[in-house]
Amino acid sequence: MLKKLIKPIFAASLLFPVISSADVVTSKDLVANVQSQMNSIGTSELVKLLEKEPNIKVIDVRNKSDILAQGGYIKTNNLDFISRDKLEFMIEDSVKPEDKFVVYCYTGNISLLAAKQLKDMGYKNVIHYKDSYKGWSEANQKISSLDFYLESPLYNKLKKVSEGVYTSIGATQPPRYENNGHNNNLGFIEGKDFGVVWNASGNYMLAKALHEEIKKISNKPIKYVVLENSQSHAMLGSNYWKEQGATIIAHEISKKELAGDGEAILKRHTRIMKDKIVGTKIVLPDETFKDKMVLDLGNKKIELLYFGHAHEYDDIALWMPNEKILFAGDLAFHQRMLPIFKITDTAHWIELWDEIEALDAKIVIPGHGDVTDMPTVTKYTKGYLEHMRAKIEEVLDNDGGLADAYKVDQDAYRHLDTYKELAVQNASILFEQMEFE
Ligand SMILES: [Zn+2]
Repeated sequence: MLKKLIKPIFAASLLFPVISSADVVTSKDLVANVQSQMNSIGTSELVKLLEKEPNIKVIDVRNKSDILAQGGYIKTNNLDFISRDKLEFMIEDSVKPEDKFVVYCYTGNISLLAAKQLKDMGYKNVIHYKDSYKGWSEANQKISSLDFYLESPLYNKLKKVSEGVYTSIGATQPPRYENNGHNNNLGFIEGKDFGVVWNASGNYMLAKALHEEIKKISNKPIKYVVLENSQSHAMLGSNYWKEQGATIIAHEISKKELAGDGEAILKRHTRIMKDKIVGTKIVLPDETFKDKMVLDLGNKKIELLYFGHAHEYDDIALWMPNEKILFAGDLAFHQRMLPIFKITDTAHWIELWDEIEALDAKIVIPGHGDVTDMPTVTKYTKGYLEHMRAKIEEVLDNDGGLADAYKVDQDAYRHLDTYKELAVQNASILFEQMEFE
């Protein structure tokens, strides 16, 4: 009975050619058979495709340790990492069934079978990149080798910014199961007798992972955890830190937002993070402030500053006046395109930029993306906001409509991560806002 069942199952699974029970398909035959059924492209075709559609989704199906051992991954605007073993379960979080996207691995064999599986699942527009990472790097195309952190759920190790000041840079993609929800920048500042953490992180597991890393460089207890705003990746890890005896500090508006929306945000993230959100609970900040709060660390001084309504109602920055280091949070962007939300006040954001610039920061740690400097974040934050406002103003002056707003020129920002997700949305939200200004 069992024997009878085996054949139809194998035949139905299109991965395998029909075989008799005595035969075994060699991997070579299997690959050749699948190859003929797939839309495969080589390196020059992928280069052309990425020129034409720079924001097309590309999925690397290798696991982290292979990516590290093999020297990196393809540098492109819209890359996801979904290891082959999780592909069937995670793909729906990455692409829509009708999307066109590219799949690759190291030599092209594993990704070929992965692409075939996706095609069978209904993702008809999957493209297989047959030269894969090996071919890409040998052709001297752009690669990235930002060090994934193997031993920890953190996206990157803690990196030293200055004496006793560290940051762990998150992924610049949305929060995903694969990046453990670490998609923003976390920080640690070591004081004389205690430490301060910037952002509680996006869940209990990440907060714990950050703490493990901190313990490797410092034996000081964490006394304060400062939330840059009430967004998930700033606050969801708070209950871990409370268990460690830390005091959670946030802006007074953040506390109100969390009291109102905290549970709903947690519910939404539970859907994305699945088992990885275990232990995460909403806790409210213990201390809040309105304009400014000063923390004395003995050997360092910290100022928590609120500049008013900008990207959100409640964005704050952490300023170290002696070291001239600014943890700018979501007030400053450069690697990722900044998002304009319905609640974003772009005019005020530009206005308050003068105050931020007047701090004369030497090192800027933005909310997302690598450590940088003031001119760079000015270009991609104030510069982008001014550019967009001028363009939308032109549309309004010419009695244009929403359709014209969609088309405003944002070419100078095309290379930014999340351009595809945000450019048109930013234009339309800004148009609707400025119509009533
Ligand atoms: Zn953010």
